[in-house]
Amino acid sequence: MKVPLEVKKRALNLSKIIAKHSYLYYVKDAPEIDDSAYDSLIEELRKLEEEFSSLKVAVSPTQRVGGEPLKEFKKVPHQVEQWSFNDAFSEEDMFDFDKRVKNFLRKEMGEEISPAYTCELKIDGLKVVFEYKKGLLKRAATRGDGVIGEDVTNNIKTINSVPLKLLKPVDIIVEGEVWLGKDNFKKLNQERKRKEEILFANPRNAAAGTIRQLDPKIVSQRKLDSFIYDIAALSDKPMPENQMAELKYLQTLGFKVNKNFKLCKNIKETVAYWKIWQKSKEKEDYLIDGVVIKINETKYQKALGFTGKAPRFAIAFKFPAEQVTTIVEDIILQVGRTGVLTPVAHLRPVLVAGSTVSRATLHNEDEIKRLGVRIGDTVILQKAGDVIPDIVSVVKEMRTSKEREFVWPVFVSDCGGNGEIERISGQSAWRCKNKNSFIQKKRKLYHFAGKSAFNIDGLGPKIIDTLLGAELIAISDDIFTLKKGDLLTIPRFAEKSVDNLLSSIEKAKRVSFPRFIVSLSIPNVGQETAYLLAKNFKTIEKLEEAKIEYLEKIGEVGPIVAQSITLWFKDKENIKILNKLLKHVKIISESNSSMSSGQKSNIFENKTFVLTGTLGSMSRDEAKEKIRALGGSISISVSKETDFLVVGENPGSKYEKSLEFGIKILNEKDLESLLNGSKNDIIKA
Ligand code: NAD
Repeated sequence: MKVPLEVKKRALNLSKIIAKHSYLYYVKDAPEIDDSAYDSLIEELRKLEEEFSSLKVAVSPTQRVGGEPLKEFKKVPHQVEQWSFNDAFSEEDMFDFDKRVKNFLRKEMGEEISPAYTCELKIDGLKVVFEYKKGLLKRAATRGDGVIGEDVTNNIKTINSVPLKLLKPVDIIVEGEVWLGKDNFKKLNQERKRKEEILFANPRNAAAGTIRQLDPKIVSQRKLDSFIYDIAALSDKPMPENQMAELKYLQTLGFKVNKNFKLCKNIKETVAYWKIWQKSKEKEDYLIDGVVIKINETKYQKALGFTGKAPRFAIAFKFPAEQVTTIVEDIILQVGRTGVLTPVAHLRPVLVAGSTVSRATLHNEDEIKRLGVRIGDTVILQKAGDVIPDIVSVVKEMRTSKEREFVWPVFVSDCGGNGEIERISGQSAWRCKNKNSFIQKKRKLYHFAGKSAFNIDGLGPKIIDTLLGAELIAISDDIFTLKKGDLLTIPRFAEKSVDNLLSSIEKAKRVSFPRFIVSLSIPNVGQETAYLLAKNFKTIEKLEEAKIEYLEKIGEVGPIVAQSITLWFKDKENIKILNKLLKHVKIISESNSSMSSGQKSNIFENKTFVLTGTLGSMSRDEAKEKIRALGGSISISVSKETDFLVVGENPGSKYEKSLEFGIKILNEKDLESLLNGSKNDIIKA
């Protein structure tokens, strides 16, 4: 098939940028982009090569293993060629792998085979090949480019868990991972910071950089560790019959083998194992970037063999990527419920952190300028757990000169009226001059019925659009006056759905004070501020009467927010809607509300929590609700007033700041113990 010119160019650009990052990672041990963003570039190139086979050349980065060996070390040829793995990123990829394996085995073995798989944790360290003669360590070499590695024997000998002498005098070549524990990594970087040395990006790079140190004394101080997972060659003895036996045999020789391996009867079980470890990976001291799945039986492994740079009998099932690359197809201004204009990047759909994403907010005009993002650009997108996807940076090397700059408009038709817009004073944001456009009303209704406000089950944007279209609702209060007969007039709205919706609406009439405040769409008042206001004013009447000077003094309510609140309550139209609403809903105290976890104790009274990173067992919103239910307050930023920082996976800069301020750090387990009351001493400490 003829390759279109732009595809050719894109593939060439991808190869160039991959080569650059590969060099930084493998040779310099100093990556500039996240591993998952790198994987995303490789994956795009691999897909292009699959579609247009003429793009697949021997020098393509998809066909290469690792990087070149450093010239400072003696180069050594591997006795057994080293491979890399093909990657799987989703359950679907795994089922495809299983299908491919079965088809291949059927052809090779002439019968239907359903192979068992071993699952091993994919330790993210540095691969090392160890050669033992009569049980004595003779040579250890890095993987290098798969054919030639670097002789790092003297450095490896300083690692306590690598046996210098095996428990049996065998001739064996084994493969394993050398890694640095997270705690040791932190200490190492703290030390480097003190000495004003360049910090390591992560434990993997610290391990790789350490092993490729010329001075073994430095290596010995760094406390590296090892896990051995494969036998590459074994003399005078047949190879174990399967991977499980191989791992057990390695243990009998005295090697440190990661104990979390598991035999799975089928591919479904491997997916279940992957899911478990996705949640528990943070609990280990070593980095785990996925699960390695290998066909268990050695005879089937042999039958399957290799393709290109990777074995057919194994696959690296990576954990969901939190950074990927994609293309900005357009930038569209979105009118929010308070009329604020938010530029939104419309993206080529991409799988990130386990779900497909096609939009990312660009926040405001300044953010577009800061990123320098243009329509058509390739960007790095980040999404961690339940956090909103964000564009981290533009991959400028991928530009083709066809990208277009986004021009901030003077008029926005979605604003309604004459479409005029204005800059919000003191902020980098713009808003519609007209406060009552149809889009604003619609978004206010979405928000009103949404999770953080009235949380009306079954009243999502689609139904709201239908109700608006049928002119059954126009403002929030109308929701509470809907009758069965009204709803039954809507085509395809069955009686059962109508009953369910009406019962959710009825339930929502009892609402907690913070949720009620959130539902009002007061500009600059989000969930956290609503909680603070509810705590300080107790009733809506008192909040309505609040003086600006008093509001400003409350916790994180600054002058802008205080002004927003007072302006909102001065608007006659708002008060009219508010009064109507109050006729239908009952504001109930927090302890009786649906937001409360039902626990009565106020153990977190006067304690301020900040959350960072992704939590595994609950969403951030759930964690916040639970903390609040026990009397604690949540702050969005770390300050000297913060009492606790709850740290999930991939924490942001709040973590470093907390260390600086000496704030008590809680991991997810600590938080859970506090929430279930089994570890209250942390609070008093
Ligand atoms: P790979 O993903 O193909 O996996 C192979 C490696 O897995 C082996 O070499 C071994 O070291 C390791 N491994 C861990 N546990 C194992 C087990 N139980 N059994 C077998 N192997 C096990 O590795 P690769 O070829 O080194 O792939 C590239 C990796 O390097 C990717 O994760 C990629 O993101 C990263 N990378 C990142 C950048 C960057 O700029 N951030 C650049 C280049 C490469």
